[in-house]
Amino acid sequence: RGISRFSTAAVLEEPITPPVQINYTQNLINGQFVDAASGKTFPTYDPRTGEVIANVAEGDVEDINRAVAAARKAFDEGPWPKMTAYERSRILLRFADLVEKHSDELAALETWNCGKPYEQSAKSELPMLVRLFHYYAGWADKIHGLTVPGDGKYHIQTLHEPIGVAGQIIPWNFPLIMFAWKVGPALACGNTIVLKTAEQTPLTALYVAKLFLEVAFKIFIVYYLYQGLYVIIFKKWSPSCVLHSISRDAQTIAGLPPGVLNIVSGYGPTAGAALASHMDVDKLAFTGSTTTGQIVLQLAAKSNLKSVTLELGGKSPFIICEDADIDHAVEQAHFALFFNQGQCCCAGSRTYVHERVYDEFVEKSKARAIKRIVGDPFKKGIEQGPQIDSEQFQKVLRYIRSGIESNATLECGGDRFGTRGYFVQPTVFSNVQDDMLIAQDEIFGPVQSILKFKDINDVIRRANTTRYGLAAGVFTKSVETANTAMRALRAGTVWINCYDVFDAAIPFGGYKMSGIGREKGIYSLNNYLQVKAVVTPLKNPAWL
Ligand code: NAD
Repeated sequence: RGISRFSTAAVLEEPITPPVQINYTQNLINGQFVDAASGKTFPTYDPRTGEVIANVAEGDVEDINRAVAAARKAFDEGPWPKMTAYERSRILLRFADLVEKHSDELAALETWNCGKPYEQSAKSELPMLVRLFHYYAGWADKIHGLTVPGDGKYHIQTLHEPIGVAGQIIPWNFPLIMFAWKVGPALACGNTIVLKTAEQTPLTALYVAKLFLEVAFKIFIVYYLYQGLYVIIFKKWSPSCVLHSISRDAQTIAGLPPGVLNIVSGYGPTAGAALASHMDVDKLAFTGSTTTGQIVLQLAAKSNLKSVTLELGGKSPFIICEDADIDHAVEQAHFALFFNQGQCCCAGSRTYVHERVYDEFVEKSKARAIKRIVGDPFKKGIEQGPQIDSEQFQKVLRYIRSGIESNATLECGGDRFGTRGYFVQPTVFSNVQDDMLIAQDEIFGPVQSILKFKDINDVIRRANTTRYGLAAGVFTKSVETANTAMRALRAGTVWINCYDVFDAAIPFGGYKMSGIGREKGIYSLNNYLQVKAVVTPLKNPAWL
C-alpha cells in the first residue's frame, strides 16, 4: 500500500451539480443533428462518480460514410472553398465571438465530461479556444502562392489550394483545445471536415457545432423578416444594395454552409477506423496514442494514401541543473507533471535533477505534492480532479504498483483518493532509474518520477534515449548550458526555465515516435494545403 497523507473529505461530499444542461447528443451531419444510422447510443460518464451523464449517438461505418459524403459535396459543389478568404475569416471570427459568449456553459460541460478543474476550463482553455479561432481567422486571407523565377520563357506561379475533405480524430484530454487545433486551420484554408471525437468526451464538440447552426438560424430570420416587410410595404423585392450586408451575412456569416463541419461520436476501431480508411477523405489529422497512430497511418496508406499528420505520446525530460532557481524549478516541475491530472502528452514525466541539489529538490517536490488540492473539479481552488475513466485510473494505479515493486522510493501518495470516482493521490517517486517502467512508459497520471544526474552531456544523452520526442524542459541560469541543451535535445518543443507555455502561434509536434508534422502557428496551414504549379508560355521575352 502507498503512503496516504491526503484528506478524502472533499470527494466524500455530494458532487456539485454542474451549471449546464446536456442538449446535444446526436451526430452533426450535413448541418443537421441526427441519430446514428443504427439507432444505437453509448454512455458518457461523469469521472467524479463514474455515473452515466448522457447517452450519445454511436457513429459507425454508415455514419462516417454519410458524413464524408456531405463533406465531399460541400467541398466539390458548395460555396465554402470558393468563397473569398475574407468571408471565411469573418465566419471564424463570428464563431469565436459566440464561443466567448457561451464560455461558461462550455467550460462547465468540459469539466463535467472530462474531470478537469472548472477554473482551468474557464480561465485557461476557453480563452485559448477563442484565441485559436481568432488566430486562424487572421490567416484565412493571407494564404497565397508565389511567383517563381524560371528561364524567362514561362510565367510560373503556385496556387495554394485546400486539400479537400479532412478527417480529424481527437483524444479526450483536451477535447475543446484539440477541436480548435484541428478545425481552425482546416477551415481557414477552405477544407471541409469530418471530425470524430473521443468516445470518453463527445459533448463539448457537439455544443460548439450547435453555435454555428444557431447563428445561421437567427440571421436568416432577420433576413426574411426584412425582405417580407419590404415586399408588404413597397410591393417589390428590396433593392439588393440595401440588403447587401444582411444577405451577405445570411449566406456567409450566418454560419458554415451545411456539410462543411460534420461531427461523429463513436469508438475508435469502428468510426475512427472507417474515417482513417475512407477513400473520399483527402487528409487525416490524428491526435492520440502512438499505438493508435501507427494503426491509422497504416489504414491511410492502405486505402488512398491520404496525407497524415500525427500528434502522439511522449515521455518528456525535465532537467534541473545545479545552478537553477530551485524553488521555481520545483513549482514548474510539479506543474509540468500534475497539470490536467497528469493527462498531458507533453507532461514533464522524467524529472532529472543534478546530484548537488537532488535531496533538496526531492524534499520540496514531496512537500508541494502533499499540498496539492484534490477534489470535486467544480469546487473553487481545486487543483486536481479525477482521471478520465476507470481504464485510465486502473492503468495509473498499476504503474504506481510497478514503481513500488521496482524499488523506486515512494515519497508520497501511491493510492486512490477517496472511495468513488477516479481520483488518484498526487504521487512522487525518487531514486527512479532509467530502465524502470515508470521512467519509460507514458503513465498519463499524477505520478512524478525523479531521477539523478551528474553531468549535463550525460543527462542529455539519457533524455534522448527514448522512442518519444515531444517536449523537454531545461532549468539553468547559464546561457551556454541552455544553448547546448536546446540544440541537443531531440524534441519538438524545448522550454527553458518555463514549461507548458502555449500560444496559437507556437508550433507543436513531435520528433521520433511522438508524431509527424506540426500543429498550430503557420506550420499547421501546410497540413491543409495543396500546392499547384501553373506554367504559362510567354510570347515575348520577359525584359523586352
Ligand atoms: P487513443 O489513441 O486511444 O485515442 C485517440 C483517438 O483515436 C480517439 O478518438 C479514439 O477513439 C481513436 N481511436 C482509437 N482506436 C482507433 C482506431 N483503431 N482507428 C481509428 N481511431 C482510433 O488515445 P487516448 O487514450 O484517447 O489519448 C491519450 C493519448 O493521446 C496519449 O498517448 C497522449 O500522449 C496522446 N496525446 C497526444 C497529443 C499531442 O499533441 N501529441 C495531445 C493529446 C494527447
